Amino acid sequence: MADTTPVWERVRGMVPVSLCDWPGKITCVLFSGGCNLRCPTCHNASLAWNWASLPGLDKSAVLADLRRRKRWLDGITLSGGEPTCVAGLEELLADLASTGLPVKLDSNGSAPHVLRRVLEAGLVQALAVDVKGPWAMYPELTGQGMAADTARDALAEVFALALAYPGQVYFRCTKVPDLTAADLEATRAQVPGDLSLHFQDYVEPRCHDDFS
Ligand code: SF4
Repeated sequence: MADTTPVWERVRGMVPVSLCDWPGKITCVLFSGGCNLRCPTCHNASLAWNWASLPGLDKSAVLADLRRRKRWLDGITLSGGEPTCVAGLEELLADLASTGLPVKLDSNGSAPHVLRRVLEAGLVQALAVDVKGPWAMYPELTGQGMAADTARDALAEVFALALAYPGQVYFRCTKVPDLTAADLEATRAQVPGDLSLHFQDYVEPRCHDDFS
């Protein structure tokens, strides 16, 4: 059944200032609830799978706050969960863009057609996309949420997008405990040489209380 939840009801968290979510930029981070994957190492499990239990945010208050703080921010990061799962994502991105701040979107890369749409529409200035590990490990890394072939095909589309939009799409791999040094090397080898892949340290999942 189609998700008819008004899009701002899916916004379930906010970090007012972050220095680490958009490299080199000071951003406000908003979090949308819901995710199509089930990574055992999920950093935002409550948000991903139990988002309706988290307190919501008021659209007018958030947008007013962003406009008030605009001079001290470089942009807005929309993270999750998985924002491409949200029906009405474009509406949400347009609302954020109405503040005049650039917007970056975080994604697990499973919906390249959505990423293409928001790039083509100019709704985001940057995308950060996960490469979770070697394709063969995707089933275990995503809690059986994504098969190896599916991951390879989806990410191939995202790699093509990154080449078509130079400097706007970057890739990251979180060094979760299951990934060995050889796995990290294999992950790097999957990404076309023209594209960068940033390896980030794994941190213990954060409590949802950190979001509001
Ligand atoms: S893709 Fe991200 S939000 Fe979704 S389950 Fe995996 S780690 Fe959690």
